[in-house]
Parts: sequence; C-alpha cells; structure tokens
Amino acid sequence: MTLAAGSCPNGHVSYPTHPRCPECGEPQDETVDLSDRTAEVVTWTTSTATPPGVREPNTLAIVEFDVSDLDAEDEFVRALGQVTTDDVESGDAVEPVYVEELRDPDVGLKRETQASQDWDGYRWDPV
Ligand SMILES: [Zn+2]
Repeated sequence: MTLAAGSCPNGHVSYPTHPRCPECGEPQDETVDLSDRTAEVVTWTTSTATPPGVREPNTLAIVEFDVSDLDAEDEFVRALGQVTTDDVESGDAVEPVYVEELRDPDVGLKRETQASQDWDGYRWDPV
C-alpha cells in the first residue's frame, strides 16, 4: 500500500489524490508516495468522544511532508491522520506506519457496506 499524494503539471501537490488539482483544476497526472518520508506535526488534537468503531481516545494530527526534493511548485504537502500515541507535540517528527484497521469494521456500519470500505491505512508514529 502507498500513501499517495497527487501532483499536477503545474507542480501543485495535494493529499489525498484528486482527479483534478484543487489548486488549478488541471488533471493530476502523477502520484508521490509519502509512506517512506518523514513529516512534521503542524497541529494535533485528541478526541475523547468518538463514533462507534473508532478508538477512544483518538489523537489526530495534521502533518507536513517536505516534498521540496521533487521538481514541484509546492515544497510541502499536508495530511490528516491518526497518531500512534497521545504523546505528541507540534514540531515533532513522525513517520507513517501501516495499520490494517484504522477503525473496527464490525462496529457502526451496515454489513452490506463493510466490503466496499477500505479499513487499512497509515498512522503517524513519532521518530
Ligand atoms: Zn495544480
């Protein structure tokens, strides 16, 4: 699995990917895998009242990946995700770690919709 950001011919990078660039409207024609990069925590929050199937407490962070090594207009791309711990501060370095279930598939959804959902993904792990 990849943690894919999209980029357009004008060098805008966004996460997640979009059919068209949110910045300029051109089709996104390339992807950038962020899963082997580190990021910096921009801000974070911990939710203690979570929906059924979502862990509690649930610490989430907006992180910023440095993509200045790419031949792109944007030097950073931001992504929102769960953190592996509740011990996190703005400015911390994190790396994406793959998890099979971000939520509990057996809770909170009709059985018919379970198969159409992706349950796996990435969390941010302090380095
Ligand atoms: Zn663009």
